[in-house]
Amino acid sequence: MERLLVRKAGGVTPLDTLISRHIRLFGPMDVGSFMNLALGHPQHGYYMTRDPLGGGGDFTTAPEISQMFGEMLGAWVADLWIKAGKPDPFLLVEAGPGRGTLMADMIRAAKNVPGFHAAMRIHLIETSPALQERQQAVLKDYEVIWHGSLEGVPDTAPLLFVANEFLDALPIRQFIHINGKWTERVVALDGEALCFAAQDVSPGLVKDIPSGKDRDVFEISPAREEFVRSLSVRLKTQGGAALLIDYGPAAGGIGDTLQAVRGHGYSDVLKDAGESDITSHVDFAALKKAAGDMRVFGPIEQGHFLNTLGIGIRAEVLKRKGNAEGIESGLQRLVHPDQMGRLFKVMAIVQDPALMPEGFF
Ligand code: SAH
Repeated sequence: MERLLVRKAGGVTPLDTLISRHIRLFGPMDVGSFMNLALGHPQHGYYMTRDPLGGGGDFTTAPEISQMFGEMLGAWVADLWIKAGKPDPFLLVEAGPGRGTLMADMIRAAKNVPGFHAAMRIHLIETSPALQERQQAVLKDYEVIWHGSLEGVPDTAPLLFVANEFLDALPIRQFIHINGKWTERVVALDGEALCFAAQDVSPGLVKDIPSGKDRDVFEISPAREEFVRSLSVRLKTQGGAALLIDYGPAAGGIGDTLQAVRGHGYSDVLKDAGESDITSHVDFAALKKAAGDMRVFGPIEQGHFLNTLGIGIRAEVLKRKGNAEGIESGLQRLVHPDQMGRLFKVMAIVQDPALMPEGFF
């Protein structure tokens, strides 16, 4: 095992202590296991203990920037529901709903579509008790059912599924090219401090990775692919469509995109486990493959998607009601290529090839 980079992590959070002990007992852990613990440990995991969103939190997401984001997605979903022949009931499912803002904006936007509210059954996939509480408060006027994973969602009706910045939180594994071969980048101990290290892997695991240069990093995410595979099976058997929005390249490649965000800035991935959001860029090409023979639209840039759906017109209408400056700045943050417009991608998976989702042309 080769030591790569020592970070003086200090071992101060309860989760640091726990992870260090685990490594001492069982040896280094892959990056995905580290992410799982840092984000999802039942007592100390980052999402388990707090509401990380908004100005006072660590990061802001599209639905928290402007109501227009959820309104556009609400219109997208309602349009597909109509095109699908207004199935009643249908499941309106969101994974990783954060504060519940996106769902609230979507259903408010679809309120005037006759029959939509009566037919919808809201199902949320959320592991964080802290955020579930927020969602409950925001959606108190609606009947909502929560699940810890996709498996719990009923399989009895068509689904319209959305997820914004959900997949980036699912774990990845990293491989690093050292001395002419791919090894796995793992989290290990250097004395008391957590560090990254390289560990041999079975050749089968890395056989499909293109050859690299010294220190190149390549990422895979079996967890994200598995999620999209299960979702696609659901769509195939139940009918419906899914909209996935996240940051990342249209086609993945070489590069270390593992990141920690805290207090609206980047922080050290190995420092203060459980106190920062640890994510990585989503490889949409891999997700497209995982969707198998389902009809996939995109990935396209978020800016293009929202503009095509008419977010500019919506902004003009809202501006007339006041706070024109705030609305314009929200619009720019969502669509401008230098802000979220280009880095964020949108991909749709549709069961019925005759169903044309809006926004992709
Ligand atoms: N979609 C929201 C929140 C994004 S933050 C928004 O755009 O504002 C990520 C969300 O995913 C949080 O709600 C977090 O609790 C949830 N989450 C993270 N890992 C999860 C998992 N494995 N299963 C279900 N939800 C998860």
